[in-house]
Amino acid sequence: MYFPDLAQESQVDRGPHVRAVGWLDDKHPFARGPVPEPVRWRLARFAEQAGTSTEALNWGFFMGFHTCELCNRARDGSNFGVVAGPLVYVCPAMIAHYVEVHGYLPPEQFQLALLACPLPATPEYQALAAPLRYVPPEPLQSRTTHNIPDLRYPFSNPVTERMVWARPIGPWRVFAIIVLVLSAAKCAAKLFD
Ligand SMILES: [Zn+2]
Repeated sequence: MYFPDLAQESQVDRGPHVRAVGWLDDKHPFARGPVPEPVRWRLARFAEQAGTSTEALNWGFFMGFHTCELCNRARDGSNFGVVAGPLVYVCPAMIAHYVEVHGYLPPEQFQLALLACPLPATPEYQALAAPLRYVPPEPLQSRTTHNIPDLRYPFSNPVTERMVWARPIGPWRVFAIIVLVLSAAKCAAKLFD
């Protein structure tokens, strides 16, 4: 599954807090270059602890494995997040393979974040990840709250207008209806006389 580097969407989360990194495929060109050893070491550790990261960020586990589209040799289905203040860099665990085998060069800001972020299996990481946990979309029912009439503007809301027309018939209307029915009956009686 392809996402451009630093896109605000990925397979597991999306939004202004998301930065996708390393979602490569065989159809889009990607940056290549040497990656410093400390960055590569930490990429491998994050890939190992991807399950812990996924749990901390409430991403849920996705079905099946990704196969590396560049060589068809590596397979991995997990993802991890690198937390940097209000941002989370969302990576497939396969990113370590992309760097080691295919010469992928991740964005510099991601490399800096990776060096600064505690490893997923630490209490520090859990604390940093807590505010960035994935929130599932609201269920449909609570999305319809805008249909509830706003009592401050009772006649501007179609629901309220319907409620006005549906109110019980008052005594004057009953009287008017009786008069109408009686005169109709009188007319009919004259016609068939
Ligand atoms: Zn590969």
